[in-house]
Amino acid sequence: MILDVISVSKANCKNCYRCVRHCPVKAIKVVGGQAEVVDSLCIYCGRCVIECPQNAKKIRNDLHAVKEFINAGEKVVASIAPSYPAVFDVTSPQEMFSILKALGFYGAEETAVGAEMVSMEYQHLIKKGQKGPIITTACPVVKNLVEKYYPGLIRNLAPVVSPMVAHARSLKQRYGLDIKVVFIGPCIAKKAEALDRSVLGNVDAVLTFQELADWIDEKASAVAGVDFGERENVLEPFIARSYPLPGGLLKTSSMEDDLLSREVVVVDGMEDCMELLDALERGSVSGRLFEMMACRGGCINGPSMPCDSSLYERRERLLSFIENNQQQQGYEDIKASAAGIDLRRSFEPKAFKAPRPTESEIREILASIGKTTPEKELNCGACGYPSCRKKAEAVYRGMAEPDMCIPYMRSRAESLANLIIDHTPNGIILVDSNLNIKEINRAAEKMFGVEKEQVQGKPLSTVIDDRDFAWVLANKTNLQDKKVNYPRNFLTTLQTICYIEEEDLVLAIIQDITEQEKQRMELERVREETLEKAQEVINRQMRVAQEIAGLLGETTAESKMLLLKLIELVKGREENEGLC
Ligand code: SF4
Ligand code: SF4
Repeated sequence: MILDVISVSKANCKNCYRCVRHCPVKAIKVVGGQAEVVDSLCIYCGRCVIECPQNAKKIRNDLHAVKEFINAGEKVVASIAPSYPAVFDVTSPQEMFSILKALGFYGAEETAVGAEMVSMEYQHLIKKGQKGPIITTACPVVKNLVEKYYPGLIRNLAPVVSPMVAHARSLKQRYGLDIKVVFIGPCIAKKAEALDRSVLGNVDAVLTFQELADWIDEKASAVAGVDFGERENVLEPFIARSYPLPGGLLKTSSMEDDLLSREVVVVDGMEDCMELLDALERGSVSGRLFEMMACRGGCINGPSMPCDSSLYERRERLLSFIENNQQQQGYEDIKASAAGIDLRRSFEPKAFKAPRPTESEIREILASIGKTTPEKELNCGACGYPSCRKKAEAVYRGMAEPDMCIPYMRSRAESLANLIIDHTPNGIILVDSNLNIKEINRAAEKMFGVEKEQVQGKPLSTVIDDRDFAWVLANKTNLQDKKVNYPRNFLTTLQTICYIEEEDLVLAIIQDITEQEKQRMELERVREETLEKAQEVINRQMRVAQEIAGLLGETTAESKMLLLKLIELVKGREENEGLC
């Protein structure tokens, strides 16, 4: 079953591998530079959600489903985890129940009631002499950890349901099987636990405290005017409100006095839990009962606690709440209610058999990222894996990509950058704020007839005129495309000089335009020569034209004279004939 409890927003995931680094079981796959949570490997500890600086990890939101239950007229009953006083500003359970009712819940009770029942079951186990070591199973992350990564210890898991499931069963027994039970708590793993095959159908939806806080904000006006009313006729926990704290389960089960402290081990925090499970697997610890909580400091430090207060402030708030709401009775009612409920469950191995690479396959993967000798295996952890070999194994399993190796990618990028700088035909000179040369590339060495080793660290003025650089440095303004001649080097250049503010450096890109300049001047000379020649031709043409025009003018005048004379002659002859 795909649970989709945690998804990743592709737009937000920025390829930083922070989630991989913090995932205790490396259940995050990186494909195309994007992180993905692999359901079959994930234990839902929520660390990747907390650690992602880009908020790319999203927890499945079940608020919509719960609102739909309410809108459809279902009887929806809330089971609220005992860590709520650490985060919501309420002074009594009744205040919390009234808020939940204002949101539309039919009823509400504390999950700590289920915790009382579970503790009774633990007492039975111990009394019956169940052979240790017994691992408590109230924390679903620890249960997931054992099922997926320590299958050899499954037989050590106490075959008892969690307080959430015990309470849901109790609520359905008392309110009717047709009600919808919504668990509300600080834990992401509960969303997966509700869908676990062996307890499926008990809890109908799971909200985190964050989802509840968002809902309360949304309905702020309805919640603000809520009347806290009379104390409800509900089951109230007797001593189990301390369940969210390390040692709370054992205290509630009255086992502190029954067992020698050497036999009872309480651990909180993922690393300590894993260390203890490793030791249990090796058979090197002899305790009898092991209370384990994945979150450091217990559930009050769960992954979905919507508050900024410190762990110790939350602890303080919870302890004050417990003190101010002491119950003197109720234990017998809970005991009676628990009598008719099945509090047992089973567990199944869910370990994923990962393909194992051979030594030569690991070497091949390491070599592909330049790690050809053991000295080149830096084991820096930047990729998220504790060693280069572990990362190579992850690449083999398709969980990681070779280019997640940051030192390798950086040196590759640097060598590519150096390659570009060294092969560009433009001269590049970098100077510091004292105008001493920091870098000079091959093209610039050639242009100015120097060698990097000789001039690095020396004043720029020993190589070229540094006045433009000094001007850029003083004015913190770039100089763009300035033509500069270096007669001593027979060079004409086009220079762009930039100020690099973050580093207080000046960078010059010098383009050798000597050849273009020569060509330009040659063209200029040819152009002028052509113009001169053209002018000469024009002048000559003009002269010829004028001469032709002169000749044409003379002959035209002569023709005109001759014709006039001819006309006169003709006219004179006609007159003479008329007289005769
Ligand atoms: S929830 Fe925990 S186990 Fe799952 S991917 Fe995130 S860090 Fe890993
Ligand atoms: S310690 Fe509590 S909040 Fe944390 S994972 Fe376990 S049950 Fe959830």
